[in-house]
Amino acid sequence: MPSPRSAGLIAVVTAMTSLVGGTAAGPAHATDATPAAAAVVPLKEPTNLTELRREAQKAFKGIEDANRTLKARQKQFDTLQKQVVGKLAQLQVADQELAKVRGPLSEIVEYIYQDPSVNSMGSFFPSGDGTPTLRALSDVNHMVAEQNNVVSDAAKLLQDRERLATEAQELRAENLLQEAQLDAEIDALRKRSASLVKSLTRALVKLGVKVNANNRGTGACDPTRVDLAAQYPNGLLPRGFLCPLPQKGEELRADAAIAFADLNVAYQKRFGTPMCISDSYRSLGEQQAVYYQRPGLAATPGKSNHGLGMAVDLCGGVQIFRSAQFNWLEANSKRFGFIHPDWAYHSPFEPWHWEYDPKVGSLL
Ligand SMILES: [Zn+2]
Repeated sequence: MPSPRSAGLIAVVTAMTSLVGGTAAGPAHATDATPAAAAVVPLKEPTNLTELRREAQKAFKGIEDANRTLKARQKQFDTLQKQVVGKLAQLQVADQELAKVRGPLSEIVEYIYQDPSVNSMGSFFPSGDGTPTLRALSDVNHMVAEQNNVVSDAAKLLQDRERLATEAQELRAENLLQEAQLDAEIDALRKRSASLVKSLTRALVKLGVKVNANNRGTGACDPTRVDLAAQYPNGLLPRGFLCPLPQKGEELRADAAIAFADLNVAYQKRFGTPMCISDSYRSLGEQQAVYYQRPGLAATPGKSNHGLGMAVDLCGGVQIFRSAQFNWLEANSKRFGFIHPDWAYHSPFEPWHWEYDPKVGSLL
């Protein structure tokens, strides 16, 4: 039967062993966070306005995705690092406990080996049955076994600490690598997006669109800014978000304007003349003026798609229902993201009213 003291030792060693065992699993490696969106890399260079617009938007969206992945990755790393730090702290406590028992234990064993028959043994192991020496010897054997346990646990503890330290280092290295990869990816996407917007601007200028009109800069025709533009209330779109149309004085939101320029190329090929525009973006003030002049014909101010920079009213034949121009547009506009909304067929009947539908456009 172990003495109260050795029973205490066993308890300590058992506790440490379970502690050490608990660390054996080590931190989970976060290899599931694959670098974001390798799919963003283009397969071919865009050849027309719609493709340029789509690729620029895609690259821009890729930047946002990669940023999100980067943030999630950093959060995951912080959690894992905290786990490793916690485990190392636990190991340190176990190490200290072990050091506490190791010293006295070797002293006792050493002492017993020097003189196994000493009377003072009784003070360590009071037997009371009159055979102190035999009893003491059995206890000595037990103590030696205990000492061996402590030594082997110390070795295990050391191994565990080394493994954890290595894991912590690997975790940091892996994280740095992934962050660097994501940074490079974001950088590449940013460059690609910027270069696509530049090509797009050049193409628009070639088509006669005065991109820099009124010193608004190219930002007005930058399709990667449409999400920002969409945050403004109807009719209150800042000038910097309006891209000129081929016809002087008319403008739409960047994605709609780019789609319109592309559609206009096809229309001109078919009819020999550019599309005729009677109205496009309408500010809230202009919407109010139109509403009071033609109450039955104009949308309530603040509700019209003209105020979002997404609608045009067309002339040059399109305004006549079932004209060649109307029919051609009806058959072809969707290819460019433009639609003739259902309501415009009857209530109110507005054959001239056409809209850019970002949902249709995003599929192109
Ligand atoms: Zn209209």
